[in-house]
Amino acid sequence: MAQRGTTRNGVADKIPASDLPQPVKIQQVRYTKIFINNEWHTSASGRTFPTRNPATGDTICEVQEADKEDVDKAVAAAKAAMQLDSAWRKMEPPRRGRLLHKLADLVERDRKLLATLETLDTGKPFLQAFFTDLEDETYLCLTRHEPIGICGAIIPWNFPLLMLMWKLAPALSCGNTVVIKPAEQTPLTALHIGSLIKEAGFPPGVVNIIPGFGSTAGAAIASHEGIDKVAFTGSTEVGQLIKEAAAKSNLKRVTLELGGKNPCIVFADCDLQMAVEEIQKGAFYNQGQCCTAASRVFVQDRIYEEFVRRSIENAKKIVIGDPLDPQTTHGPQIDQQQFEKIIGLIESGKKEGAKLEYGGGAVGEKSLFIHPTIFSEVKDSMRIAKEEIFGPVLCIFSFKSKQEVIERANNSQYGLVSAVFTTSMDRALSVSGALETGTVWINCYNAMHVQTPFGGYKMSGNGRELGEYALAEYSEVKTVTFKMNDSM
Ligand code: ADP
Repeated sequence: MAQRGTTRNGVADKIPASDLPQPVKIQQVRYTKIFINNEWHTSASGRTFPTRNPATGDTICEVQEADKEDVDKAVAAAKAAMQLDSAWRKMEPPRRGRLLHKLADLVERDRKLLATLETLDTGKPFLQAFFTDLEDETYLCLTRHEPIGICGAIIPWNFPLLMLMWKLAPALSCGNTVVIKPAEQTPLTALHIGSLIKEAGFPPGVVNIIPGFGSTAGAAIASHEGIDKVAFTGSTEVGQLIKEAAAKSNLKRVTLELGGKNPCIVFADCDLQMAVEEIQKGAFYNQGQCCTAASRVFVQDRIYEEFVRRSIENAKKIVIGDPLDPQTTHGPQIDQQQFEKIIGLIESGKKEGAKLEYGGGAVGEKSLFIHPTIFSEVKDSMRIAKEEIFGPVLCIFSFKSKQEVIERANNSQYGLVSAVFTTSMDRALSVSGALETGTVWINCYNAMHVQTPFGGYKMSGNGRELGEYALAEYSEVKTVTFKMNDSM
């Protein structure tokens, strides 16, 4: 046995032996069940498992063994506690702070017991378990923000140059090198940027641009052992493949910017004409080929008919034509596959009973142009209400109350952006707090700024692009700690 003075018990080494804390005598361990909803439960399966004392090999006690059913119960309890009107969600931060302090006081009260239990369970020497704050020396710590290394980027065809820059700028600002794949439909601006990279004088190898296809070049980036991070913008389905490939290869860091089914809530007190115009920009901009497209427009019943009427009037102003003509405001869809998917969804809307108010099909034959399309009387269960259309289709729903519309707006696997139209500041703030999306626009749409973070909740993505938050996604943080021998 080690002698006192030669132990590694930290602060305990400086305390006289007579003052050292002693373990508690435990006859029987009191808490051995599953803790859910502040209550103790036996396992759904009825099973228990022994926890052993590594010092003796003896069983200390039997503990209730949780399995999937118990996890489900715990998740249901955590979900209920997370509801908007729950005690926890409504609790002011200072009160949360008081609870944490109270908990700390109770831990301190029971610390001999806790240290004893820890020692029985882990075999950790008692004084080490007791003095978890080990040292009282002085340290100086600094953090270094370092590049992650080689960053892969896979970008989509809807904003090829913009998406390239969203990846390139933060990656290079933080000192990384980049391997970037533009979408197979739209490689040209990325390649031109390659020439500008060289002309600007970046050293060779810092930026590498590889045009190619998703299932080959894209998949090779996601699963590459030599790539340290991958940033992806595209569909949720491919986002799942990227994360899986990253996990199975080298656990590279992953940021994802994926699909959306973005709710807009139009309250009766709003500036109606402004709401109509902003939402229509949101729905039809870039031929609706935007992850941020305004695709579920909930309009309060009192102004519903007028909103639909004005939307139709406003849509008539759209100029369909040659996209190189500066007068044109609406061009073709990107390719045949997307065209057919959109037409298929428009047809499903008609079949499922939505009311076609405007457009509703292709412009002429043998072209990739689709008329801006407006459906009213859309129901939440319809395909056009649930699936990302990625085309110029505006779906209008009616709602009565704030509570109802928040629930319906949040009832989606997606959570990218949302918008609220109202003249009440109070309502704007309370609804923006309740919406489960990474961005909420109030009385505007598609108002993006390079300074403000952009990204999704839920299956719309992981991480944030733009602003300072983007820099965090392209750096590793290293803590460097110095022991100070000459402190004051
Ligand atoms: P969209 O539906 O908008 O075309 P995708 O997610 O299919 O979106 O494409 C976005 C980007 O992802 C493109 O650069 C595409 O080549 C790439 N991509 C597609 N499939 C894969 C894949 N299996 N692995 C990696 N990248 C992919």
